[in-house]
Amino acid sequence: MAVAEIGTDLNRAIDLLKLDNLVAIPTETVYGLAANGLNPLAVSQIFQVKNRPHFDPLILHIGKIEQLDDLAQNIPQKAKILAQQFWPGPITLVLEKKDVVPSIVTSGLPTVGIRMPNHPMTLELLQRISFPLAAPSANPFKYVSPTTAQHVFNQLGFQIPYILDGGNCKIGIESTIVAFHNDDVHVLRLGGLSLEKIESVIGPVIVSTDIHTTIQAPGQLLQHYAPSCKLVPIDESTDKMNLDGLILLSKNSEKQRKINLKIKRFYLSEAGDILEASSNLFSVLRQLDDLDLKTVGFEWLEENGLGRAINDRLKRASN
Ligand code: AMP
Ligand code: MG
Repeated sequence: MAVAEIGTDLNRAIDLLKLDNLVAIPTETVYGLAANGLNPLAVSQIFQVKNRPHFDPLILHIGKIEQLDDLAQNIPQKAKILAQQFWPGPITLVLEKKDVVPSIVTSGLPTVGIRMPNHPMTLELLQRISFPLAAPSANPFKYVSPTTAQHVFNQLGFQIPYILDGGNCKIGIESTIVAFHNDDVHVLRLGGLSLEKIESVIGPVIVSTDIHTTIQAPGQLLQHYAPSCKLVPIDESTDKMNLDGLILLSKNSEKQRKINLKIKRFYLSEAGDILEASSNLFSVLRQLDDLDLKTVGFEWLEENGLGRAINDRLKRASN
């Protein structure tokens, strides 16, 4: 295949998708590798290109809330509330699937993950086609997710025809995934929508992001989102002499830690803005590999809001 084109031509993207080709699409979380989610042959190319194991299910992306009823059944009231409140946005609902959803999308599970992404270009695209898009993150399996068109190009540029360029992803980490059991809401993956926001509309949720919990999602794999470089958490007692670099939340957190070493600093957000930090996280992880650094330290962020999801990715990247 020729090298991928990067562009903003929605008609081109739509034509390719209608012909069952793959197109990389921007979302507010990360870039997705999209195909017609109702066509098993189109979807199978996603697994091939990503080198993704077939036990790892895909998320279906929709452009209108009414599409939920075409794809899922017995939708719990709490799921409807979350969709109304937060879509388009960074939350994926795991629901009982209808027969139209091919089993390759769900890895044979009776449930399907569905989300309406909040990116103007991709929303318009989704609203102009008659099928949902299956789209996992547009990176090789287990590697860090892409947050720019160039990230996608660098890794998949020779395997897909088109990358729709929607700029930098505003949130920069994957969606929060929730599932429903009886009246309980389980969070399977921490992500772009904070627990606090979810709980503010449906009350307490159960966090089941651990690989040892009964409900399992492959996004829970301990080693996921991993750069090649070794990441180590730091605290006051860490010997920082062996580090080639340091990931810090902000200039202020550096001051508080009184770090005087002459090693390279990577600030997730110089001013300490948590949304900016999450949108920069994966770019920073990629830079470590581009610079061929061997061992890099990082600090844990405060365990609330988006900080919780950033810590989750740092933990999985450091294993
Ligand atoms: P991504 O590669 O970021 O699109 O992640 C897709 C992730 O969504 C998978 O790795 C699973 O963790 C999760 N997922 C998708 N569908 C389901 C499902 N039916 N049940 C549980 N988790 C799901
Ligand atoms: Mg992924």
